[in-house]
Amino acid sequence: METSWVESANDSKTDFPLLNLPFGVFSTSSLNQRIGVAIGDSVLDVRACAEHGLLRTLDPAVQHACAGLTLNRFMSQGRRALSSVRTRLMEILRVDAAPELRIKTERLLHRMSEVTMQLPAAIGGYTDFYASIYHATNVGKLFRPDNPLLPNYKYVPIGYHGRVSSIVISGTGIKRPSGQAKAADAVSPVFGPSRLLDYELEIGFLVGEGNVLGEAIPISKAEDHIFGLCLLNDWSARDIQAWEYQPLGPFLAKNFATTISPWVVTMDALEPFRATAFERQAGDPQPLPYLNSEPNRQRGGIDLTLEVWLSSQRMREMKQPPARLSKGNAQDLYWTLAQMLTHHASNGCNLQPGDLLASGTVSGPLKESAGCLLEMTQRGAEPVQLPSGELRKFLEDGDEVFFRGYCEREGHPRIGFGECRGIVLSAS
Ligand code: CA
Repeated sequence: METSWVESANDSKTDFPLLNLPFGVFSTSSLNQRIGVAIGDSVLDVRACAEHGLLRTLDPAVQHACAGLTLNRFMSQGRRALSSVRTRLMEILRVDAAPELRIKTERLLHRMSEVTMQLPAAIGGYTDFYASIYHATNVGKLFRPDNPLLPNYKYVPIGYHGRVSSIVISGTGIKRPSGQAKAADAVSPVFGPSRLLDYELEIGFLVGEGNVLGEAIPISKAEDHIFGLCLLNDWSARDIQAWEYQPLGPFLAKNFATTISPWVVTMDALEPFRATAFERQAGDPQPLPYLNSEPNRQRGGIDLTLEVWLSSQRMREMKQPPARLSKGNAQDLYWTLAQMLTHHASNGCNLQPGDLLASGTVSGPLKESAGCLLEMTQRGAEPVQLPSGELRKFLEDGDEVFFRGYCEREGHPRIGFGECRGIVLSAS
């Protein structure tokens, strides 16, 4: 197994072994923002690696891109450039790296606890899909009991354009939004703080190399356009959503905040965990040809475990550890990332480096694998009990929600995503 001279990267519990090396953007009290990779409990300053000649075997344009303030320029260089940087960083961090290389590199490491993470890219566009058929069916049942899954679902990867300006990095406080809501038995709506605030457990994926306006991306090339994955919380105000969503879909119920985890895990790091795409039931239509391919069926999925954790203010006061609310897997998505990306560009829509696409709530068939409280509590009818004895239908002020994601396989180091965290702040 590949090990690193950064000891903490060899811990079996770390999210960031040598074979992960996710990219992010960080700053410190004395350094302005720059690209880094996570390794064990440390962050390697990739910009400084370029400046100190540690990447000089690479294409000069790629070295230059490594000095950017965000990942965008690096993303635009394409998947091969990304692989080349990652392979080189792996060489210099390996346990058998030449001593002088190690001495030079050691000086460019920062303790993760001492850096501030920033958004990884200047995000130009954000699209949220709806790719879990379990989520779509469960939510559909709550909003439309007679007609849960609409007839387009098995043909079209459903999505909507979200808002970019309110995408925030993990750790940012989330102020409870206010909006219009109408109780079922009320004649007219009222305006006030949302009472039904929820999280949505999702996978975000960032676009690497883009496509020219008017030119589609074939499914065979889709993954070449994915720079990497992160965790994403699409905070949702269910009362505002229920009143506003028809006919044009989500608007103010969703666009007040979206949290992403700071480390972008590459497709290269996820390679050992690829899985078959979702197996459609007999009788389901096959995807239309532009969304279908044998490699996508065989390797389009990812065996990625996703967890939701919650800590209430009372639990923290009682010194109780956070409670895990659910555990799901990305293999429960009906559509693969490649299908979502190909569909997005299929009309000629130009995706750009740094664009953020998200899977939609990842829910599985069980209550324990529901990716949001709306499903888990059946819109509040079956509250969840916390270790403190408190009940939750939806989120209360002071609740801190965090997601974890990781891939595990015998004989391979665990590849983790770090955390996607946010605490609910009062509306006033
Ligand atoms: Ca969503």
